[in-house]
Amino acid sequence: MTGKVVDVIVIGAGTAGLKAYKAATARGADTIVIERGSGGSTCTRCGCMPSKLLIAAARAAHQARQAGRFGVEIGTISVDAAAVWQRVRRERDRFVASVLEEYHAIPADQRVHGGARFDGPNSVVVDDRRIEARRGIVVATGARPITPDGFDDVRHLVHTHETIFELDGLPQSLAVLGAGPLGLELAQAFARLGVEVAVFDPGSSIGGLKDPDCNAAAVEAIGAELRLHLETKARASAHGSDQAKLHWDGGEMLVDCILAATGRTPALQDLGLEHIGITLDDDGVPVFDRRSHRCGDSRIFVAGDADAWRPVLHEAARGGRIAGQVAAGGEPPRCLPAFSVAFTEPGIAQIGTAFADLPPDARIGKATVADNGRATVDGHTHGLVKLYGDRAGKLIGASIVAPDAEHLGHLVALGIDRDIDVATFADQAWYHPTLEELLQSAARDLAGIED
Ligand SMILES: Cc1cc2nc3c(=O)[nH]c(=O)nc-3n(C[C@H](O)[C@H](O)[C@H](O)COP(=O)(O)OP(=O)(O)OC[C@H]3O[C@@H](n4cnc5c(N)ncnc54)[C@H](O)[C@@H]3O)c2cc1C
Repeated sequence: MTGKVVDVIVIGAGTAGLKAYKAATARGADTIVIERGSGGSTCTRCGCMPSKLLIAAARAAHQARQAGRFGVEIGTISVDAAAVWQRVRRERDRFVASVLEEYHAIPADQRVHGGARFDGPNSVVVDDRRIEARRGIVVATGARPITPDGFDDVRHLVHTHETIFELDGLPQSLAVLGAGPLGLELAQAFARLGVEVAVFDPGSSIGGLKDPDCNAAAVEAIGAELRLHLETKARASAHGSDQAKLHWDGGEMLVDCILAATGRTPALQDLGLEHIGITLDDDGVPVFDRRSHRCGDSRIFVAGDADAWRPVLHEAARGGRIAGQVAAGGEPPRCLPAFSVAFTEPGIAQIGTAFADLPPDARIGKATVADNGRATVDGHTHGLVKLYGDRAGKLIGASIVAPDAEHLGHLVALGIDRDIDVATFADQAWYHPTLEELLQSAARDLAGIED
């Protein structure tokens, strides 16, 4: 076995890993990245980017169908499935190429191809090579989709986000298992592209929403476009060779395709973490400090989807950067407010303290999309914005179900990060007529400010 000693080892060359590498080398650390796949990131290959590209096509079809409401007649609208996939994959490949370029710009002697496995708290083995880290090891191995039990008979019809963007055409019918952000986004996109879609989830919330009022608003809006079977567990059996029969308490349906959006689990299984003396939680995920990403007082760090904390892109990038920086001897910055988005229409954004974690004396302000002038102008009728404040009047969180939720969410995230009080937040320059006025209305409601 050959051996090498470096300052920092990064396992995984996705978003978190590449940021960790850059941050560590920027601090002068001799750093090595180990990647077992072909590089590129989940975000570009089969995550954020292809899903948003498919949503963009779906939005175009939807807007064309809706044009008649404004007195604009477009005629027959048809979706060219081959052209849709062609654009999705062409642009997706460009995004992948830019990540690969970043990866291949790393000097060859700092890149190792293969699967890493710990053989001690400060070292890993890749095939016949042993690499030891003087300062730290960053685990940035991402996550893998969970495929549900009970679908073995129809496994050939079941896709995950790793395969769905490789479809040749559009199925006539699709069952989406899981109404979280990932499942919901793709369910609405396929429905808008003309696919008959049904969503199944054993829980009652959609898009990851924790606030029951906002959830009800989202269910009403999105349920108008596709069938939502909530609090429903579906099973499947084969129907011929190219269809599945889904059955559940009270119903059954035939579908051509199934998308399993039933969650993602950190890709930690092959690393041998259980043998190196760090504390793991019940799911086998290292317990780590949220600011530094360090596992206890070890020299091991975990970042990105591998840490299962906030499985979104900006947290993967930031977590990787912090882990690389701290492993190389730097100090961790502050934690940012939580911020997650589902790119549905209406959009769903949750920022800061979640509804379920609000203190008992929290104050809540609301504004409905139906009462917003700009929403009416643009033909949007559904949605609800709720802002949460603490007893002292500080803005601490929000749940947003509204058009452009992601943009509204950024303003709330900035306000929370800057420790703003709700009255000050309400008293900003809110332009009219804009959807941003929803935030002003909710903030006024929360702070008890009369119009
Ligand atoms: C369909 C979908 C849509 C999404 N949309 C959004 C969105 O709109 N906005 C958003 O913010 N987030 C979105 N996300 C989440 C976002 O994509 C992820 O949070 C982010 O890509 C995670 O990056 P990462 O670096 O942790 O993992 P990855 O990019 O997966 O990188 C992990 C790398 O580690 C490598 N690896 C694993 N094990 C080993 C090992 N033992 N040895 C060596 N290498 C190893 C893997 O091969 C991989 O290259 C979406 C995710 C999905 C699935």
